[in-house]
Amino acid sequence: MRTIHNPRELQELALSVRGSGTSIGLVPTMGALHEGHLSLIRRARQSDEFVIVSIFVNPTQFGPNEDLDRYPRTLERDLDACRECGVDVVFVPSAADLYPEGFQTYVEVGPLASRLCGASRPGHFRGVATICLKLFNLCQPNRAYFGLKDYQQYRVVERMARDFDLPLEIVPMPIVREPDGLAMSSRNSYLSPEERAAATVLFRSLEDAARACEAGERDPQTLAARVRRSIEADPLARVDYVEAVDPLTLEPAASLPALIAVAVFVGNTRLIDNRLLEAPDSS
Ligand code: AMP
Repeated sequence: MRTIHNPRELQELALSVRGSGTSIGLVPTMGALHEGHLSLIRRARQSDEFVIVSIFVNPTQFGPNEDLDRYPRTLERDLDACRECGVDVVFVPSAADLYPEGFQTYVEVGPLASRLCGASRPGHFRGVATICLKLFNLCQPNRAYFGLKDYQQYRVVERMARDFDLPLEIVPMPIVREPDGLAMSSRNSYLSPEERAAATVLFRSLEDAARACEAGERDPQTLAARVRRSIEADPLARVDYVEAVDPLTLEPAASLPALIAVAVFVGNTRLIDNRLLEAPDSS
């Protein structure tokens, strides 16, 4: 396994790998790797001959009062995990490498990016789309793997790939959870023991909505209201948003299928989760 810091060196290598007809799989991450990330890496290892993992805490997707400075950084452990998964190259650029003086060109994202996390975190998806486009140009992947925990991110990046005719496939991957249902996240390490226990309210309320849906409740907005009520009942949780949206457009859903997407502060830590609700097959 090679660790590469320099973007030009990485791009030269990627161009020659792809030029030789070898397929490249890319897993973009911000590090502090957990089983969620590793599931993407293992899938890339199955589907692609050459696997690149990028580790970069991207400053342009953080707002001024967010956790850029204290975001967990565990590079040595991450490199061990990548080695164990059979990764070929770990790309670890610096912010100065990717945003040198004079950098001024960003991807302008459309309405998909304006709702949900885009409304709570202005500029977030502009930063995400910009870094993903840069990583795609540097790593030359045939496939890039994204987790559905960050559902809106997946949709925004998939849309950008289509809109810009990028020659790669965006592959969505299921949410990996802790045994008690909490979606794995690097930010879970911020939680105190009490907050960690309360954090399962996201999963529990989404499961409860799924059960209500199975029992016959088909109105997405009623289901979302139910999720909101159960999260609001937890004294340690504060709702940022709970929405039932069309899974493709992310506009408010009037009928199933609908994605129930939640963002919740547990203490000072902002957690997200989602669940797709579909009408049970009536045939
Ligand atoms: P991050 O390091 O948080 O930027 O995440 C890097 C990639 O891993 C993104 O595509 C995430 O959606 C994905 N990811 C993070 N957590 C999970 C999880 N619990 N299950 C599946 N994918 C995840």
